[in-house]
Amino acid sequence: MRKPIIAGNWKMNKLVAEGARFVVDIREKVPSGDEVDTVVCAPFVHLPFLTEAAREYHVQIGAQNMHYEESGAFTGEVSPQMLEDLLVDYVIIGHSERRQYYNETDETVNKKTLAAFENNLNPIVCVGETLEQRDNNETMSFVEGQVRQALDGLTEEQAKQVVIAYEPIWAIGTGRTATSEQANEVCAHIRKVVKDQFGEDVSEAVRIQYGGSVKPANIEELLGMSDIDGALVGGASLKEEDFLKLVEAGQ
Ligand code: 13P
Repeated sequence: MRKPIIAGNWKMNKLVAEGARFVVDIREKVPSGDEVDTVVCAPFVHLPFLTEAAREYHVQIGAQNMHYEESGAFTGEVSPQMLEDLLVDYVIIGHSERRQYYNETDETVNKKTLAAFENNLNPIVCVGETLEQRDNNETMSFVEGQVRQALDGLTEEQAKQVVIAYEPIWAIGTGRTATSEQANEVCAHIRKVVKDQFGEDVSEAVRIQYGGSVKPANIEELLGMSDIDGALVGGASLKEEDFLKLVEAGQ
């Protein structure tokens, strides 16, 4: 049985004091990490306080991006080592907003995924098609290519630990959720791709999240599907009450 993982992606929201209050408020209310993994992915400036506030509680903290180089002349970037130094647990890699606005490519996603493991960070690797690709029946082949390139060069152990987030771009922030069947169909295909790449032990262990307009009203149905092991949540992760409902659904 795969343990569900519910991750909030705050994106570029919340001031430091607001983020701090959020984690302090929810930290005693989230269920034990034996039942569900609860992750809050915050902007970089929040991370020093949040990792401290979450320590000894069942909330894990994630970053939303990082560079793949260890250090050097990369003005404005944050390294995997810096995240490890703060005891950050997870890092989102290749979110569609980063692919779209910041030239993230399958190649940089792969480099970042490998760098995450070198620095004891758990990568949440995002994949997903545009509406145009869906309409042209290219979803499966496009997502397959993204997964293969992202995971290229990982060991079996690493591949088991990676979290893949399937986020159809047309469902992000639009209120238009993929139906649970549509989401599950692609997640099942991703699992097949991982099986082909790393074998069945890995594909049965790897956790695949759905993301795109997930909210308390639709989470249970999504989590009830055979190949959906959690959710990566934007808008509905910004309110404590909603986020806690999502985490409870993961129990
Ligand atoms: P929404 O939940 O706001 O649609 O965002 C999804 C997402 O992009 C999470 O990474």
